[in-house]
Amino acid sequence: MKSLFMLIYTLVAITLTFLAASAHKRKEGRYTEKLTNVLIWAMIAVLAQGVIVSATNAVMAEIGFSLFFISIDWILVNLLYLICTFTSYEMRYKRIAQIVLRTYLFVDTMFFLTNYFTRLEFNIERITRENQIYFKAFHQNLYTAHLIACYIISALIAFLLIWKIAHVTYLYWDRYIMMLVAFLSVILWDAAYVFLGDIIDYSVMGYAMAGILVYYNIMIYKPKLLIDHMLSNIVNIGRSAVIFFDADDDCVYVNEKAKDLFEIEDNDYGDCGDKIEHILGDTTIDRSLDYYDVICNTMLRGISFHLDVEYHLIEKSGKKLGYFFSIEDRTADIDALNREHYLASHDGLTGLFNRDYFYSKVKEVLDHDPQGEYYLVAADVKDFKLINDVFGTRVGDNVLMAIATAVKEHKHRDTIASRLTGDKFCALARREHFSESTLLQGADAISKIKGVSYPLVLRFGIYYIEDRSLSISSMIDRAFMTISYNRAEFKNRIYYYDNRIREERLLEKKLSGELTEAIVNENIKLYLQPQCTADGSVKGAEALVRWDHPEDGLLLPGRFVPLFERNGLIPVLDRYIWECAAKLLRKWKNEGLLNYYISVNISPTDFFFLDVYDEFHRLIKKYDIDPANLRLEITESIMINDIKRKLTVLEELHKEGFIIEMDDFGSGYSSLNMLKDLPVDAIKIDMGFLYNAGDMDKSKKILRMVVELAKELKMPVICEGVESEFQVEFLNGIGCDYYQGYYFSRPVPIDKFEQHMIQGG
Ligand code: C2E
Ligand code: CA
Ligand code: CA
Repeated sequence: MKSLFMLIYTLVAITLTFLAASAHKRKEGRYTEKLTNVLIWAMIAVLAQGVIVSATNAVMAEIGFSLFFISIDWILVNLLYLICTFTSYEMRYKRIAQIVLRTYLFVDTMFFLTNYFTRLEFNIERITRENQIYFKAFHQNLYTAHLIACYIISALIAFLLIWKIAHVTYLYWDRYIMMLVAFLSVILWDAAYVFLGDIIDYSVMGYAMAGILVYYNIMIYKPKLLIDHMLSNIVNIGRSAVIFFDADDDCVYVNEKAKDLFEIEDNDYGDCGDKIEHILGDTTIDRSLDYYDVICNTMLRGISFHLDVEYHLIEKSGKKLGYFFSIEDRTADIDALNREHYLASHDGLTGLFNRDYFYSKVKEVLDHDPQGEYYLVAADVKDFKLINDVFGTRVGDNVLMAIATAVKEHKHRDTIASRLTGDKFCALARREHFSESTLLQGADAISKIKGVSYPLVLRFGIYYIEDRSLSISSMIDRAFMTISYNRAEFKNRIYYYDNRIREERLLEKKLSGELTEAIVNENIKLYLQPQCTADGSVKGAEALVRWDHPEDGLLLPGRFVPLFERNGLIPVLDRYIWECAAKLLRKWKNEGLLNYYISVNISPTDFFFLDVYDEFHRLIKKYDIDPANLRLEITESIMINDIKRKLTVLEELHKEGFIIEMDDFGSGYSSLNMLKDLPVDAIKIDMGFLYNAGDMDKSKKILRMVVELAKELKMPVICEGVESEFQVEFLNGIGCDYYQGYYFSRPVPIDKFEQHMIQGG
């Protein structure tokens, strides 16, 4: 019997030693020392039991018992420390608790060590059973204290574990319950030995089991449920839908994202494989690869998705365990990217290519097709500025959008089209895709746009790309140049670039460079065209500029005035003409010719660059002339923008005594309203405009009405462009006051005017 126990105890001690050694070897830190201590003391306790059982005399038994009781103390205290760490319990008065525990250990150990002499803890008694000698400890008073201390510590340990169980999620329970059960079993077993008074302490055998359990629990056991839970949480945290398949292609797991993506309910993963095949579409994944990544564009539930599909093979020791797909919804990113690219390359309003992108596209197309024949088509809306100003930018925008729509509808799909700026559109078309009729059809479609009670005229400038050495911007320039050379048209028109335009352009450049010098050299000349009454008596004259060019002969204003209006040189010219006119009036004044006036033209651009009021104010002061003799001709186009400021200037001039005439009345977009708003004293009607328009009868009627209206407003009417006696008679008949035209005189140089027109001259 004894030897059986000896064997058991030895095995238990070896097991505990082994566990203690292996716990000690672990570098786990937090538990290592405490667990090792517990196991070593448990091993000592078992050895002590061995000594007790094998004791042949009282001294040996005495040593065994003392060692056993001491080791129980040490086991419990170290176990308490271990459990504190295990349950992450922060001892509140750690220092004090440690001192108390250490003191207890020291004192109790001392009592047991000295028990042989003091007999305060226990007495040894020899018992004979079945011819075997056993020793048994009979407890003295102090042992009760030891026992109470042990149970208090045990209760603390049990309490800590129960407390922990109550406070953690059920996923952790197994750890603590395992610990609690192991601990309580040993305690109960031990209590049974203590209270039943057995000779041999079987409960020590439980130490091995408990030790193994504790060791396993702390050092090896990882709660599977918890880890599953955590892993699946991690898989769910990511942006990806994850679908796992086993080696037999059966779906074994899908995360929440995948459930949402595939609309999976009740963990029914059956058709996941098919769903993935659907996403992949034409893409086939080589399943022998470890990894494969592809972006798939697919429709799910009628919505278009961009999905980033990753395939991962999982292997263990060269054998396929399974595989999983990680699918990330990149729809928002890719849409944003596309949008960004769209915004960077397209015009926000019309959706056509923007300028920069168009330039690069044209270059790309031409570079790729060096032999191809291409047209650059420029288009703009006649008087678009005016549409914006009169009808508002909303309507202006609508016009631009309508043009874009027409472009998109009518253009060939290979033709690239752009809105460069404002109302400037441009397209690059292959020769075989270009047709005039399509352009005009598109233009017609636009002319019917709602909300604009004004004829929308689209003009096209075509440049056939013959010179590939030109820069893209020069090519586009040529297309637009073609339009600006043909300004006066009033219906949709297509113009082709030719070398004449180029020469004109060169001439323009030349003239612009020569203007200042021409003024200094007095090559810019003031011509006068008389304004007279029906009987031919001259009342004044209109100042009309001529350029007496040393190489190109006498240039009419049509050659350079529109150019200088475009490039901003017109104020230089006008200031000079105004000065000439004022100087001449002064000369006439000196000669006693006080009743003749000169009308000068003011271009809208002048208001932009000059202080028009200041200029004229200065002139009448400088030459001391009557402002009423320096008349000012303005056209309706003056009112296109910045109306308020211009109105103030005109009103000030009017107050100062200048007479303001509305030139070319009826040629532009003159609304009768303007007569009401502007400080106008007289109106000029150009016969040419009316007669060119066709229907004579209608023209006459209009003339009659206009003259009548002017009379009503008490404004004199000057008729320009009068070429025949017949016209004079008619105009006289309807009440026209003054006449200007070839019938009376062409514009003539000053000296000629003075000689022939001025009475007494
Ligand atoms: P406008 O102010 O309407 O000037 C009248 C134009 O009609 C002049 O053309 C004149 O020669 C022309 N004309 C006069 N009588 C007849 C006629 O019986 N039949 C025809 N067919 N035409 C006639 P011009 O001198 O070529 O001037 C053209 C335009 O240039 C002017 O039109 C005016 O807008 C502008 N212009 C002329 N001189 C100046 C100037 O000094 N400054 C500015 N800003 N513009 C000027
Ligand atoms: Ca004029
Ligand atoms: Ca005129």
